[in-house]
Amino acid sequence: MNSLVNPPETASPLSTIAQPMIDPFGRSVTYLRVSVTDRCDFRCTYCMAENMTFLPKKDLLTLEELDRLCSAFIEKGVRKLRLTGGEPLVRKNIMFLVRALGRHIEAGRLEELTLTTNGSQLARYADELYDAGVRRINVSVDTLNPAKFHQITRWGDLSKVMEGIDAAQRAGLKIKLNAVALKGFNDQEIPEMLRFAHGRGMDLTVIETMPMGEIDEDRTDQYLPLSQLRAQLEEQFTLTDNGYQTGGPARYVTVKETGGRLGFITPMTHNFCESCNRVRLTCTGTLYMCLGQNDAADLRTALRASDDDAYLSAAIDEAITRKPKGHDFIIDRNNRPAVARHMSVTGG
Ligand code: SAM
Ligand code: SF4
Repeated sequence: MNSLVNPPETASPLSTIAQPMIDPFGRSVTYLRVSVTDRCDFRCTYCMAENMTFLPKKDLLTLEELDRLCSAFIEKGVRKLRLTGGEPLVRKNIMFLVRALGRHIEAGRLEELTLTTNGSQLARYADELYDAGVRRINVSVDTLNPAKFHQITRWGDLSKVMEGIDAAQRAGLKIKLNAVALKGFNDQEIPEMLRFAHGRGMDLTVIETMPMGEIDEDRTDQYLPLSQLRAQLEEQFTLTDNGYQTGGPARYVTVKETGGRLGFITPMTHNFCESCNRVRLTCTGTLYMCLGQNDAADLRTALRASDDDAYLSAAIDEAITRKPKGHDFIIDRNNRPAVARHMSVTGG
């Protein structure tokens, strides 16, 4: 049988619940985000240039290697794992990895297995994701207008994403919609998106655009501080801070008029690094200890050096000692990205 069809029957010999890794600033590292591919079937204008050069396929870790790496992190105290990309659901045979990681949920070693997706392939995968142990997903939708959706994603079809959302809800997956707030593009539409999301039992989170990677446009034209958006929304809605936590950087408010939750992710206007609990792994086995810094650790070499995970474990420990205090994003008229790699390399 093709070993990629099903994950191994037996779980790897992981010990019982591990103590979390602690970084030099005393923060526990319990959350791993894994970009399983840098490729995508969309070309969102704030995320990618239209003509992107992607990694040669030969440089990618295999799905078995990604499983081994993720399992090593779980062994070291990671409790939440998010698959992202690029678009995670365009990676060939991705369900092999999801099912393989699902065994840690079943065994109680992992609290949450989730993913961030553009929704284009969700209709096809929703049931399988649920069966593998996924319970919540983030779907990125920046507008509910089909023509604008095509404009911002360049290649996307909103009706496919909506079919995906329908299928995911039918399958029992809880959905959070993510929208990047873009000045003059969707700021006026956020009230409508809020009503749509809350009317369907979904949270909505808005995100400030971050200066990552060269794109074809000027980021200063796109950037909208969320403090401004919040003030705009407060003219129509009653927003009350509610302290809700999902383990991510979003700060949530309850919207009295809809009864739903709205999250704000503000990497630019409010730096949330003091509570950062995460590290990010790319599909080539490079570990970034911060989304907004260039320092990284090569775990692929450690992974391939030996079948014994001790070597890998030591490389992970060394990387965690280098987790920096925080990022220092700024968007200025030079229009130079703060980090050269695109968001699709380390994932959102
Ligand atoms: N393709 C999937 C998707 O779009 O959900 C997963 C990867 S995508 C890089 C993850 C999230 O990052 C998406 O919500 C996307 O809108 C957001 N994103 C991409 N580039 C960004 C940027 N420069 N600033 C802020 N958010 C960005
Ligand atoms: Fe693809 Fe997600 Fe980037 Fe859009 S935001 S181009 S869907 S990786």
